[in-house]
Amino acid sequence: MSLDRLSSVLLPGREAALAGAAARGRDLLAGRTVWNINSTASGGGVAEMLQALLAYSRGAGVDARWLVVEGDPDFFAVTKRLHNLLHGSPGDGGPTGDTEAATYERVLHGQLEELTSLVAPGDIVLLHDPQTAGLAPWLRDHGAHVVWRCHIGSDTNDESTARAWRFLEPYLSAPEASIFSRSAYVPAFVEQDRVWVIPPSLDPFSTKNRPLPPADVEAALRHTGIVPFAGVDGSLEFERRDGSRGTVRAHPDLRLTGGPVPAHARVVMQVSRWDRLKDMAGVLTGFAEQVNSIPDDVHLLLVGPDSEGVSDDPESLAVLLDCELIWSAQPTAVRERMHLLSLPMDDVDENAHLVNALQRHASVVVQKSLAEGFGLTVTEPMWKGRPVVASRLGGIEDQIVDGESGLLLDDPTDLQSFLARVCDVMVDDDLAAHLGSAARERVREQFLGDRHLRQYVELFDVLLGGDAPAATV
Ligand code: UDP
Repeated sequence: MSLDRLSSVLLPGREAALAGAAARGRDLLAGRTVWNINSTASGGGVAEMLQALLAYSRGAGVDARWLVVEGDPDFFAVTKRLHNLLHGSPGDGGPTGDTEAATYERVLHGQLEELTSLVAPGDIVLLHDPQTAGLAPWLRDHGAHVVWRCHIGSDTNDESTARAWRFLEPYLSAPEASIFSRSAYVPAFVEQDRVWVIPPSLDPFSTKNRPLPPADVEAALRHTGIVPFAGVDGSLEFERRDGSRGTVRAHPDLRLTGGPVPAHARVVMQVSRWDRLKDMAGVLTGFAEQVNSIPDDVHLLLVGPDSEGVSDDPESLAVLLDCELIWSAQPTAVRERMHLLSLPMDDVDENAHLVNALQRHASVVVQKSLAEGFGLTVTEPMWKGRPVVASRLGGIEDQIVDGESGLLLDDPTDLQSFLARVCDVMVDDDLAAHLGSAARERVREQFLGDRHLRQYVELFDVLLGGDAPAATV
């Protein structure tokens, strides 16, 4: 994708800065490949971001590529444990000792020969998250410039985070630089002069975020059986990542507990992976408990990926089943106002288009996480001008200015305050409109790809020995 595509949405002056960074990047990286390695091709924020950054990097003339490590259930059980621990949560409570390290290294080492046949000495390798950190020493010895990018973390350290860092520390002296989404996530043992703080970004032109006329939103939601709109004349077509056209399919077997959302309903929605730390169960319980104080036409919609579809997340089915149990335990009148939707992942572009339509249809988007690395599920509706109510933690706090570009919840376990904040927006159209438009401007200012790509070029400049350009945000 050409960087020119971004020009129309950038703040004045940003276009020239981006063009300058692109030129510098091309010079620095001539004859080298920038490899990104993570552990899933779809599902979750890292895959979402890589799609866009790779496309723009390649459009700018940089040979950026993306590899996905394979794992077995034992490997992903260990890495999911690390993921939960780094978020300050005990997760499945299992160990992180020598046996787990052996499993972790065995799986990664099994892929090293293939990796080193692709990566040339002098290339840059960006390893994403704990799943790939163990590759760092081997790839450094192979002669690559290794950078580790950690997308997760916790604002406070405790025994859980300490355990995860003890596991990862042996691998983390190898990278020449480590990137964190927030400075609070940086562990003490990483040398400060190797630390880079680079928050994520979204792509305004991806299938998930591109503008969609209301009629197309309705057509997509009707055809999939999510909302039975009548008299719809919008298009079912969408643009795929590769620029080709796709058409929304009917989904007669959709897993939609609670049935379709009535067309007249105003929707409070959370879209997340089925991960305990996103607390879909808490959103559901809060809505059910407070239902009498929520206007009658408001329905709750919880949306996550089909649990088969995210290869590095072994807990998703259990989380979804828990939510379905909570739903079943409610009286009929409450159940009718709460809907749990698993979105098919067999076509990731269609999935993205449907998330786009859902985020535009929602009256309020919530993200009541108990921990959050950054939270693209907050950035995405903000860019679409939706009012967002979300927990005051992790990267969410960097995105939302409370009362200005969204509403923050101080204690994410306080369900009463949570629903009270949601209702504040639901009963005040002016507030909703103000929060939505300020949210979009906040994203334009801080969380679009131009800032992100410029920071990468600044990092590569330092890694490859040049003088860093002044790439300030
Ligand atoms: N997502 C999706 N389909 C779904 C649920 C989530 O495409 O059914 C996307 C969501 O739109 C966002 C990403 O997954 O782009 C989640 O990223 P986030 O940073 O919020 O959290 P993570 O999953 O990385 O913890």
